Amino acid sequence: MSTTNDKRQKQIEALIILYLLTDAEINDMSVTIKIGMVAAMRAAYRWASKQAGIAQEWFPSEAQKQALEDRALQQAQGIAETYQSDLQGATDKFLEAYEQANGALDDNALPQLQDMLQEWTDARNQWKSEEVASYSVDQGATDGTLGFVDDVLDGEYDVELDNVSVDINSLWLGIMPDYALSNDECNDWAGMMVPLLEAGSLPYVPAHPSCIHTYCLINE
Ligand SMILES: [Zn+2]
Repeated sequence: MSTTNDKRQKQIEALIILYLLTDAEINDMSVTIKIGMVAAMRAAYRWASKQAGIAQEWFPSEAQKQALEDRALQQAQGIAETYQSDLQGATDKFLEAYEQANGALDDNALPQLQDMLQEWTDARNQWKSEEVASYSVDQGATDGTLGFVDDVLDGEYDVELDNVSVDINSLWLGIMPDYALSNDECNDWAGMMVPLLEAGSLPYVPAHPSCIHTYCLINE
C-alpha cells in the first residue's frame, strides 16, 4: 500500500515538473522583459525631453545594459518562483478535493490532475504574460523619464557647446493619472506634482504590479 502511495507521489511530482517553467523559458522571458524595458525607456526619455523643449535620444551605456539584463533576469526568476508555488498550491487543492470526493487517491487521480494542470497553465500563461509585459513597460517608462530628469539635474543639457539648454525652474514632475483604483496604496500620491529640483521626494511608481501610475514631465 505504502509503495503504491510512494509511487503515486513520485508520479505527481514528475507531473508538476512537466508544467514548471524551464531555465530556457525563464531566459526567454528575461530577454522579452529587457527588450520591453529598453523600448519603453527610450520612448519615455524622448517624450520627456520633448516636453522640456529639446528632442533628445537615449541609448543605454554598457553598465546600464548590464543592470537592465540583471533586473530582467531577476524579474523572470521571481515570476518563475511565484508560478511554481501557485502551481503547487493548485495541485494540493485539487488532490485534497479529489480525496474527499473519492475516498482516496486512485489511478484516475493522475489523468484528472494532468487535465487540471493543463487548463490552469493555459489560462495563467495568458494572464501572466500580459501582466509581466505591462509591468516591465511601466517600469521602463519610469526609468526613461527619471533618466532624463537625472540628466537635466546633472546639468547635461545646460551646456552651451551642445546648443541645447533646459530651464529647470519651469519643469515639474507629476504622478499620473490623478486618481487611484479603490484600496490602492497610490491614493496618497496620485496627481502629486513637484518642481523638478524636488523630483527625489516623489515615491517610485509603478508602486506594485498592476499599478496604473507613471511619471509625467510638465513644462510650465
Ligand atoms: Zn499606482
